[in-house]
Amino acid sequence: MHEMSLAEGVLQIIEDHRAQNSFNQVTELWLEIGQMSGVEAGAMEFCLQSVLRGTVAEHAKVVITRPEGKGLCISCNKEVPMLQRYDPCCECGNFGLQPIAGTEMQLKELLVD
Ligand SMILES: [Zn+2]
Repeated sequence: MHEMSLAEGVLQIIEDHRAQNSFNQVTELWLEIGQMSGVEAGAMEFCLQSVLRGTVAEHAKVVITRPEGKGLCISCNKEVPMLQRYDPCCECGNFGLQPIAGTEMQLKELLVD
């Protein structure tokens, strides 16, 4: 599962962070999962729970935000909201939107004790 390797990536970031700044535990994890990232928030949460078990982030509260997708239209040159890849432009109806936001999954913040 795609989400599993992403969850492992999150754990890797936590471990790297801990190697540099010693802390006892992670209290909150803020993740940004763009609406066009192709990552399923529920699956991600599930994978994180299993990957983080027994680690310093075992009891961390996971907060997931889902930034909206945005695209730049190559026909009318407007920035428009976008729900999924390959959607037509809602201003002019043409296809060919270039995704400019909402395609990423990233660890936004890590609160530690
Ligand atoms: Zn357009």
